[in-house]
Amino acid sequence: MFRRIIFLLLIVLFAASIPTSVSSAPANPLLQLSTLLFGAPMFDRIKDSDYLPAFDVAMAQHLREIQAIANNPAKPTFENTLVAMEKSGQLLTRVGNTFFAVSQANTNPTLQHVQEVEAPKFAAHSDAIYLNPKLFARVKSVHARLSSLHLDPESAQLVRVYYTNFVKAGAQLSAADQSKLRSLNQQLSILRTTFTRKLLAGTKAGALVLDNASQLSGLSDAAVAAAAQAATARGLAGKWLIPLQNTTQQPALQQLNDRSVRQQLFEHSITRTEKGDENDTRSTIAAIAQLRETKAHLLGYPTYAAYSLTDAMAKTPANVQRFLTAMIPAARAKVAADAAELQAAMKADGQSGTIEPWDWQHYAEQVRKSKYNLDDNEVRPYFEINNVLTNGLLFAATQLYGITFKERHDIPVYNPDVRVFQVFDKDGSALALMYFDFFKRDNKDGGAWMASFVGESKLLGTKPVVYNVENFTKAPAGQPTLLTAGDVGGMFHEFGHALHGMFAAGRYPSISGTNTSRDYVEFPSQFNEHWSSYPSILKHYAFHYKTGEPMPQALIEKMNAASSFNKSYPLGEQLAADELDMAWHLLPAGSPKQDVDQFETQALARSHTDFPAVPPRYRSSYFAHIWGGGYAAGYYAYMWSEMLDDDAYQWFVQHGGLTRANGQRFRDMILSRGHSEDLAQLFRTFYGKDPEVGPLLKERGLPPAP
Ligand SMILES: [Zn+2]
Repeated sequence: MFRRIIFLLLIVLFAASIPTSVSSAPANPLLQLSTLLFGAPMFDRIKDSDYLPAFDVAMAQHLREIQAIANNPAKPTFENTLVAMEKSGQLLTRVGNTFFAVSQANTNPTLQHVQEVEAPKFAAHSDAIYLNPKLFARVKSVHARLSSLHLDPESAQLVRVYYTNFVKAGAQLSAADQSKLRSLNQQLSILRTTFTRKLLAGTKAGALVLDNASQLSGLSDAAVAAAAQAATARGLAGKWLIPLQNTTQQPALQQLNDRSVRQQLFEHSITRTEKGDENDTRSTIAAIAQLRETKAHLLGYPTYAAYSLTDAMAKTPANVQRFLTAMIPAARAKVAADAAELQAAMKADGQSGTIEPWDWQHYAEQVRKSKYNLDDNEVRPYFEINNVLTNGLLFAATQLYGITFKERHDIPVYNPDVRVFQVFDKDGSALALMYFDFFKRDNKDGGAWMASFVGESKLLGTKPVVYNVENFTKAPAGQPTLLTAGDVGGMFHEFGHALHGMFAAGRYPSISGTNTSRDYVEFPSQFNEHWSSYPSILKHYAFHYKTGEPMPQALIEKMNAASSFNKSYPLGEQLAADELDMAWHLLPAGSPKQDVDQFETQALARSHTDFPAVPPRYRSSYFAHIWGGGYAAGYYAYMWSEMLDDDAYQWFVQHGGLTRANGQRFRDMILSRGHSEDLAQLFRTFYGKDPEVGPLLKERGLPPAP
């Protein structure tokens, strides 16, 4: 995952940071020049109480800078408008980048309070910029003269990105329409909060409570104990409680032996927000869909999907539809073949009837065990964390890109577990600073992500200071931390984002490094995952932590074989969710409020993603990405990025695999380029043609598309 600053319209403002000194509050280290390498945050001096006053000073300063640009009596030029905006807000960027790092990875009540206080201020701050008519008039004037200005391609791209951001925010509407837009945004924001609240409550209430220990047969002792504890915590001592996860599928379905218990758990999952009670989200989401149609229409787009995709690599809903449609026949055939195999396993287990969604993972796990006989505990001794880091992750980057790393113990960190490396370029010059925060903590968000303390920009003279956050389980003191294969993949993934940030060589902060689109940003990260299992890399880091023996070839082969098993379920559920998301956001303005159940059934049937036994990863009523998060008409982005990374990896395979020359080419054409050019063009230049779905289908174990 890649973390943008959560207030979307502020992406531009938070793109880079540079030390700035402010004389009004000299005691606050956030308002002073960092004396550290590359402007790294001075965590040895920053106190939690510094953030609130720093935000106030930084926001006021940024607004003054913006006013000065908007009110400039001189004719609008690229320099006095666009470049001036790129130079504005540096103090706010620095405060924000530092704050969001600690509030997500090392929070506490003080930081949580700052977040609550600042959130509405950010929304107002964003409006003050993007709905400033004088400022937009200047941007529009430069944009209108773009072809006669003879700007270099990167500068021209900057103009287009700014113009699109302003238009998407409603800058070109009349004052009356802007007030309509504000009202729509406000209603949408209230409905989104309502959806999130209902979903949270519905998911909590949807937990499955069991009365007899026998019903938990199949779960590990630890899982049974956790279920007993969860029941006690809700005042149900003596019972067992299985809480719901976000997705339709529930992890416990894999282990639970009792078919009727599995069915109950599954039904709790899919009806969590469809019970007709106060947690039912269906009328809320139908209202959101309708308001989005109205908003898109007001902004001059035929559908919300068209509005949302204007600045994506895919560009149009038709391109997304074509991409998804190309995979569906192969996915349908593979789902049917896998279902038949699992059906046979179910019959052999003495169960009659058809394989259902609540049976799938259970029998897949049985087949996986009998067919591949792979135990996670067999693999982990070969994945000691320091070995994976130094001899795997960093070694691969040296092989591909020629860069080297030196751990620094003198750079202050926000938690003693955080490690810092200085990164040197192939000629020995200093390139970047890289922080790793590996271990799970109670005060850290779940998941894994990359972000920057300082973004690269030639205009501002900044070098990248980037970080990766993971949630690996830390071994007790004195014992080695042994990773799972999934952890190793995650480490390579996040480091792929970090390379995208570290190799950035752009002039303008807001289109440098990872500041790209949602359907492109996961491309470098997923691409980097391929190297974790590349033979010469794996051989270099997978050594038994006790004996030093290399991982046996038989185990490597077993791992590879097992990883290609049961790929149709995740593909099918993802395609179905992609199609649902697109269907909701392709409703034209003026459509009546939809009946959610009927709409979903028809949308899945129409797109042929009504796979038997493989329901959508999220059904409409609990699809938080599209109703509560920022993924409306954007859930496809995960798979689109996967197409790009599989295409790029195939290019490597066809051109000699892992070589310095290939790495350099990828760095020059992709990793260093940020959003300095149209993203589809960047990709085309590297790949030699437009992206194609074939390599993705192959990686997913499917035959080529017809
Ligand atoms: Zn990612």
